[in-house]
Formats: sequence, structure tokens, C-alpha cells
Amino acid sequence: SAAGVLALSLAACSSSDNGGGAGGGNASGDCNVGISMPTRSLERWINDGEQLQKELKDAGCKVDLQYADNKTDQQISQIQNQIAGGSKILVIAAIDGKVLAPALEEAKKQKATVIAYDRLINGTENVDYYATFDNYKVGTLQGTFIEEQLDLKNAAGPFNLEPFAGSPDDNNAKFFFSGAWDVLKPYVDEGKLVVPSGKSPKSDDDWASIGIQGWASDKAQSEMDNRLSSFYTGGKKVNVVLSPNDSLAIGIQASLKSAGYTPGADYPLITGQDADKANVKAILAGEQAMTVWKDTRTLGKRVFTMIQEIVAGKTVEVNDTKTYDNGKKVVPSYLLDPEIVVKDDVKTKLVDSGFVKASDVGL
Ligand code: BGC
Repeated sequence: SAAGVLALSLAACSSSDNGGGAGGGNASGDCNVGISMPTRSLERWINDGEQLQKELKDAGCKVDLQYADNKTDQQISQIQNQIAGGSKILVIAAIDGKVLAPALEEAKKQKATVIAYDRLINGTENVDYYATFDNYKVGTLQGTFIEEQLDLKNAAGPFNLEPFAGSPDDNNAKFFFSGAWDVLKPYVDEGKLVVPSGKSPKSDDDWASIGIQGWASDKAQSEMDNRLSSFYTGGKKVNVVLSPNDSLAIGIQASLKSAGYTPGADYPLITGQDADKANVKAILAGEQAMTVWKDTRTLGKRVFTMIQEIVAGKTVEVNDTKTYDNGKKVVPSYLLDPEIVVKDDVKTKLVDSGFVKASDVGL
């Protein structure tokens, strides 16, 4: 099997000193990997971590998988422990992309190779590769979905829009937002989309002013509660909510439901991202219009391939060397393709591919 062949080649590499790999500077060739994930509170990170761990272990690697409960300090000390414990490759999905530089300096002293996983790590030379989905495209898919569903090119509108953005400390959040806003802003300028709450960015880098810290569902819910009670009086209705991901969409849905919005009647169009089980159920129930599906298994496989290449001292394959400037360098990246899932795709895309079980989503 492919895993068997890899196990053999990894074993061969770690028993001989291959004198340092290409690019990453993984001098020993050891397949000793530290994986650092942000939180167990979101389904996707659990899947991400466990799948990569399994693949690496099956290939004979040593793996330390840690979750940091969305706490930056905890993530830093977990990474420090992994470095002290001899991890030669670090795979990190950063909670806050801007605070890991000192820890990574330590990693470089130990000649470890650092892969930023899903989220970029900023302000340091010491990140070797970045593997993610095309984050700007995630936003484009959400914006274009809204444009098409409301037929904004032809319809007169105006439609009431409430935009949300992701966690201000997450480098992905600005890409998601700008991808969507580049599609929607012309319609806001034209007056076909109006934002009754006024919660829309005043300039290109103002997106964080509508960001929800920590991607928390309850914070999205109370923000939506506030917008509804202050700006939707006298029968005014929200027609569309730009939600950057599924955890925010869950909070927004709870708020709308408690304000009396009813699916199939006056319920707005809501976007999402991740295809979390609760949201797939919401899509089937007509409470969420779409999600942007990022098959995290593909991301895990890509990172596994990168690790294989690093350990073997081969050139690491990337497909983007211009987008992800972290302030110190443009990080060589591998971008995967996200795709839209609507109600009709749940079975064909999510269930048939094994991403979710039919029974988990009530199909
Ligand atoms: C990920 C999303 C996820 C969000 C919250 C982002 O960095 O790309 O998939 O929904 O974090 O965890």
C-alpha cells in the first residue's frame, strides 16, 4: 500500500543522516511531528488533527497532537514543549497569527521545519510553508452566491444585508471578508444592498470592526440580537446575512429564530463555511442557504505529502508563491480549492464522499 511504501522510505530516512533537506532545513530527516491545533470546540479542527495524526502514525512517524482551547498562551507553551521534546516538523494552525514569532525562533534553532496549517503565521521568517484552502476564494464563493440568489445584476432591490467578519486575530478572516466584499460592495455603493445597522467596513482594512472575536457562536448571536433590536423595528426585515463561517452562522440563526423569523417565510439567506454537522442539518432544514465546503481530508493529505517531501529531503511542492506575505516573507503556499454546498449537494458531495454520515445529519 502507499502508506506501507512511505513507512519504509521514512524509516530509511530517519536511520541515515541525509544531511539536511531542501528548503525547510530539516537536518536530521526525522519524522517527528508536533501538531498544534487551535481548539476542540469546532468540529473541523478535531477532524483535521486526528486525521493527520493517524496518517502520520500509520507511516511510522512520531506525532504529538495538541489542542490549545483557543488560548494563545496555551498554544505557545504547547509549541515550546514540542520543540523541547524533539519535534523536527511543526504543523501549526495558529490562534493568533501574530504572536508565534518568538516560539518559532526557538524552533529554527532546533532546525525544525514549520508548516502553517490553514492559517498563516505572521511577522516571522521562520515559517517554511503554508498549506490552506484558497481563502479569498471562500469569500468570493459566498459573495457570488448572494449575488446570484438575489439576482443582484437584474433585481432592483433594495435588500437589507447584515455583514459579519471572522476573528480579527485570524489572518484568514480578512481574506474571507475581502473575497465576499469585493463582490458585494458595488451593490452596496449602488444602493441595491443596504446595511440598516451601519455595520459595514468604512475602508478596506476596516473589516475587523465587524469581526467576531474567537469565531464564537454566542458572540455572533448577541451581535445579531443587538442589530435586530436596534435597527429592525417597525416590521423591517433582514433579507441576507453574510456569515463567514458556520460557527457564526449558528449564532446568527439562533438570534433570528428567537426574533421570530421563520424558514420558508421571512427567513433571510445565510452563508457559511466548513460544512459542520449542525450547519448541514440547518441547510437541510432551510435555515442556512449554503456552506463553503473545505474537504479538510485533502488539506491533511497535502500536509502529509509535504512532510513526506521534507523528510526525504525533496523539494516541497507548492502552487502559490505570491499571495501570502506575512510581513517578513512571502510564504510558499499550497492552496486547495473550496466548493459550495447547498441543500441538493448534501448527499452527492458530503455523504457520498464520506465527509459526513447520512445518519449524523438526519438523512
Ligand atoms: C478556518 C475556518 C474556520 C475558522 C474558525 C478559519 O481560520 O479557515 O475553516 O471556520 O477559522 O475556526
